[in-house]
Amino acid sequence: MSEKPETSAAIDPDLLEILACPLGKTPVKLEGDYLVCTQCGLRYPIRDGIPVMLIDEAELPAGVSSIEETICWKQSETP
Ligand SMILES: [Zn+2]
Repeated sequence: MSEKPETSAAIDPDLLEILACPLGKTPVKLEGDYLVCTQCGLRYPIRDGIPVMLIDEAELPAGVSSIEETICWKQSETP
């Protein structure tokens, strides 16, 4: 029998360190069940302890209505 931890999306600190916003390549911080980009504020969900670093799955920060409005997106547009 295997037991799964019920709560707290515990992310390995070493893993957290190598994770980054796929748009801006900027670090993310842990906020509840989300990893939040420190630059653009996109919220990447953590599912079953696995961070989903996909733009399609990310939640937009408050005040932003589309992905094109985020700082990281604009940054990725310019070479
Ligand atoms: Zn970002």
